[in-house]
Amino acid sequence: MTTDCLFCNMVSGEMAVEKLHDDDLCFAIRDINPRAPVHLLVIPKIHIATMRDVQEEHGPLLGRMTAVANRLAEAEGISERGYRLTFNVGDEGGQTVYHIHLHVLGGRQLGAEG
Ligand SMILES: [Zn+2]
Repeated sequence: MTTDCLFCNMVSGEMAVEKLHDDDLCFAIRDINPRAPVHLLVIPKIHIATMRDVQEEHGPLLGRMTAVANRLAEAEGISERGYRLTFNVGDEGGQTVYHIHLHVLGGRQLGAEG
């Protein structure tokens, strides 16, 4: 099934991508335009356009995504030094793909805004 959503096409296999993690709820990839030495994305398999659309029922999904992000940070060797977990929301929030994704940024000293 082809949709116009980049991440849904990764879920369906329409677009081949190297996954660092893959489970029943979410998967993870490296950002193609990294803004730090480590820049990963944790992406839910269900389509949720923005964090504005998140409801309380999505709690288990967000918990899983956070746990996966933490495990990947550990695997990348940035866990102890610290890293950033970010959701960008909407145009002024810097969101570019309208299917929520958790940014995992680290490997250098991050400033207040990035
Ligand atoms: Zn999608």
